[in-house]
Amino acid sequence: MDLVVPRPEGLYCPPGDFYIDPWRPVARAVITHGHGDHARPGHRHYLAAAAGAGILRARLGDIPLETLPYGRSLRHRGVDISFHPAGHVLGSAQVRLAYGGEVWVASGDYKLEADGTCAPFEPVRCDAFITESTFGLPIYRWPPQAELAAQINAWWAANAAAGRTSVLFCYAFGKAQRILHMLDAAIGPIVVHGALEALNAAYRDAGVALPATLRVNDVGEAAALRQAMVLASPSAQGSPWLRRFGDYADAFASGWMRIRGTRRRRGVDRGFVLSDHADWPGLLAAIAATGAGRVFVTHGSVPVLVRWLAEQGLQAQAFDTEYGEGAQAEEAAGSETEEGVAPQVDVADAEPATPPAKPGGEPAQ
Ligand SMILES: [Zn+2]
Ligand SMILES: [Zn+2]
Repeated sequence: MDLVVPRPEGLYCPPGDFYIDPWRPVARAVITHGHGDHARPGHRHYLAAAAGAGILRARLGDIPLETLPYGRSLRHRGVDISFHPAGHVLGSAQVRLAYGGEVWVASGDYKLEADGTCAPFEPVRCDAFITESTFGLPIYRWPPQAELAAQINAWWAANAAAGRTSVLFCYAFGKAQRILHMLDAAIGPIVVHGALEALNAAYRDAGVALPATLRVNDVGEAAALRQAMVLASPSAQGSPWLRRFGDYADAFASGWMRIRGTRRRRGVDRGFVLSDHADWPGLLAAIAATGAGRVFVTHGSVPVLVRWLAEQGLQAQAFDTEYGEGAQAEEAAGSETEEGVAPQVDVADAEPATPPAKPGGEPAQ
């Protein structure tokens, strides 16, 4: 029996009578993580991983929230539900459902590289795996985080030496905290736009080490401001708030920066290729590690990934969802709302993919 089916309200578990990350208000919602396209207001009951409670409350207020630590399971109408780290943002989880001898995993959004700001991704064996495909094209390959940290700190140090403030635009939840975690605070003061501070507080409350951050008015003299790294959400771009920084250098951190022309369209000096989502090799490795024979693809480059998986002999199909949409959504939707659509990439121009280990548990030949 199918443990998850698409319905107009969201992905539905028939035996359990609940939804996973529903986009319309429902009686029972199981939430993978706090990004706006997955955790929406208005449900009568929320179940989420305990590690994400602070974030969900910071974003949705005093919701009727029940939590479960990673790895612990709860039986609801005969369905065993458990959460397993997805490595995407603080509190992000894959939802494992077990019922009648079948195991299904809905992974929400995920990333394989450990980043130091949330529990790292853990592969979960299952019969059916529900995956995102935000960056599901072979051209998307992320540099290691240590390399990105070195690039960002070098850019900041060079600007500071020239007496120019560094302004780095990034999404407020997840991306901003990862960058904070990477910054070398010895270079200068770190200033954050007000929109980021509530989420930083949720991370600090959860025990994630972030360097000290200042609000812009807390930085005394103008000279200190010229040594500063300023983190701001993309909505601050072009706003009067930035004028106080004078002739600043700016940059944008996003997976879309992998595509030529995106930095120019964003109108910034530098682009850093930083994403909270799995890159192409990451998606394939994660799917192979589940051993699943059936794969459902929810959002992003859906047809490309479905076709690739089908060619590997998997039963792959699309699930029509509303993830990656909405004003509060993360990277993918932010790109859509601000640039019209995600950058178009001609698949024919993409690099050929390296085939991963054969999904289904057999070793690669
Ligand atoms: Zn997300
Ligand atoms: Zn998403």
